Amino acid sequence: MPYLTQLADVARSTGSPVTEVAGWKTRGHGPQPEVQGIVCHHTAGPAGGGDYPSLAAVRDGRPGLDGPLSHFGLGRSGHIYVIAAGRCWHNAPSTSPYHDNSSSIGIEAENNGTQPWPDAQKDAYIRLCAELCREFGLPASRVKAHREVNTSKPDPHSIDMNDFRAAVAARIEGKLSWTEEIVKDLPMIRLGDDNYDVKTVRGCLFARGRVPVSAYEQVGLEDWLKSTRCDPGLVELVRGFQHAEGIEEDGFVGPETWPSLLRV
Ligand SMILES: [Zn+2]
Repeated sequence: MPYLTQLADVARSTGSPVTEVAGWKTRGHGPQPEVQGIVCHHTAGPAGGGDYPSLAAVRDGRPGLDGPLSHFGLGRSGHIYVIAAGRCWHNAPSTSPYHDNSSSIGIEAENNGTQPWPDAQKDAYIRLCAELCREFGLPASRVKAHREVNTSKPDPHSIDMNDFRAAVAARIEGKLSWTEEIVKDLPMIRLGDDNYDVKTVRGCLFARGRVPVSAYEQVGLEDWLKSTRCDPGLVELVRGFQHAEGIEEDGFVGPETWPSLLRV
């Protein structure tokens, strides 16, 4: 098996935002010999410091262990960082022949080892594992915690791996995730609509910093936010948001735009 240059596309198929870390396609301790399993880790990084403060350590290594230390990083927000396409030093010695460095993919999720897991991060963790299982033809049973395949490791802390694997299996079978459940019940919003969900669009745009003072100075912010009517001014703001997010600028709030507005 060569360098796994499809990993960024696999990550994007989760629907989570993805950053391709410069140089990832040729980063690795040689190519990845095979993919028979997936190993879930936590970084044991700092408690704060942003979305993925362990990036440099996972990419470059630490004293005594050269990077890359895993193929993927997973930020607290659910943002996925694609770090390496070749073999990574994330699990040795392994108690499973399917989960050693030469046979498995590693995911290092940001967590200091005790703090609670944000829902968005855990959801993205499940989706990333499911998409990797799909890509490499693996059952959910091949997704393991580091602590399950290495006798001296505690990570990832507090995640019930049987529940986690059941969620991965459901996702592989095509059931909807909780974020998709939220979005599927939301209507398409277009010019001329007048309903409560238009207020949600206004509130989200404002929360995202996408509403300039000029948009509401005539009526006042409160009345602007309370309006249930989708007027031309709102459609223009939606287009601006879509442009900034790299979504097709059609001015409709539908299945593409709702998830970005809600950050799910
Ligand atoms: Zn680990």
